[in-house]
Amino acid sequence: MSAFDTARLRADFPILRTQMRGKPLVYLDTAASAQKPQVVIEAVSNFYRHENANIHRGLYELSEQASLRYEAAREKVRELLGAADAREIIFTRNTTEAINLVAWSWGRSNIGPGDEVLITALEHHANLVPWQQLCAERGARLRVAPISDDGELELDGCESLLGRQTKLIAAAHVSNAIGTRLPVKKLAGLAQARGIPLLLDGAQAAPRFPVNVRELGADFYAVSGHKLYGPTGIGALYARAELLESMPPWQTGGGMIEQVSFERSSFAPAPVRFEAGTPDIAGAVGLAAAVDYLRGVGLARIEQHEAALLAEAVLRLGEIPGLRIIAGGEQQTGVLSFVLDGVHPHDVGAVLDAEGVAIRAGHHCAQPLMKRLGVTATARVSFGLYNTSEDIERLAAALRRCIEIFR
Ligand code: PMP
Repeated sequence: MSAFDTARLRADFPILRTQMRGKPLVYLDTAASAQKPQVVIEAVSNFYRHENANIHRGLYELSEQASLRYEAAREKVRELLGAADAREIIFTRNTTEAINLVAWSWGRSNIGPGDEVLITALEHHANLVPWQQLCAERGARLRVAPISDDGELELDGCESLLGRQTKLIAAAHVSNAIGTRLPVKKLAGLAQARGIPLLLDGAQAAPRFPVNVRELGADFYAVSGHKLYGPTGIGALYARAELLESMPPWQTGGGMIEQVSFERSSFAPAPVRFEAGTPDIAGAVGLAAAVDYLRGVGLARIEQHEAALLAEAVLRLGEIPGLRIIAGGEQQTGVLSFVLDGVHPHDVGAVLDAEGVAIRAGHHCAQPLMKRLGVTATARVSFGLYNTSEDIERLAAALRRCIEIFR
């Protein structure tokens, strides 16, 4: 495997020392949520023990410190995503909320009757339903770029769907269901040539390899803290400053105003304009610790490590009779979906669970993709920086056990 000290890294994750069903836990569901290193757990706990106060309001030292910690977290996310300015980073609850923010704020000011939004056939529902709702409300049309049987985005098909009426391209950077890594720079080129924004759902990409929104040419980029080895309840949206300036608030109330009278209100500049109410301050502090941790390990090394694990898993699972791997394109990343002849994916998940192996089975919040692939569900293995060859051995053994039971 790679020159990656997995044993040392695993020691950073207390949960990996626990037993499940009486066996050492093999956690292969990092695409759903990553486990948390001790430094993240401690950052959140220390915040509540020693630093907790509401931000941007109090005039006392504790509140000033909490405000500084929150803004320092914004700077960490800026660094992680390679944004030009921390004011382009808005804290949200998660990727879903980040995309909804764009759909409600940018979308409802820019999409009208006859307009079109282009997504792809492999989107998570989080990057599909908000656009579908927006289009239905505005008399606009949702177009879907096709994928090939080997799980690749069909760029020609994509281009042929673009026209003067297209107002936005919204695509996953990496598919959570089959691991396809999309040619997002090419998508950015198509968007730029038409002067329209590109939104990327980076939920599965940002935890797996270095991302730079400026190099990619993304106008919006959405991430979830819990997939970045940080806490649940915190996520972020990168939005290019020029777009943000003209975007109206989508939620209103405290914390985001400039002046309020009974007649009218004026709003603060971004990012505060988009963060109504008390945010998840401890979550932001935990996310900052997670970003430090990820950068310490090195995202390029994580990418290499996960690529090696994926290649190994493809080999080992390929040896299992009746197991069909669902193709995730040439640059498949972090995720491996499969079906086992004659065994429902939920049964695969249940047998694996009894062996202490945690995987995901179902439609992976991508029902239209499942339909396109001709399946109702798949079993999905996904890797994190702490997974090992031994985890793959345990997975393969548990799958053989599954075959013994069901055949
Ligand atoms: N997009 C992708 C590609 C995802 O994998 C996920 C989580 N499975 C989401 C969006 C939604 O993330 P969250 O539930 O954290 O909002």
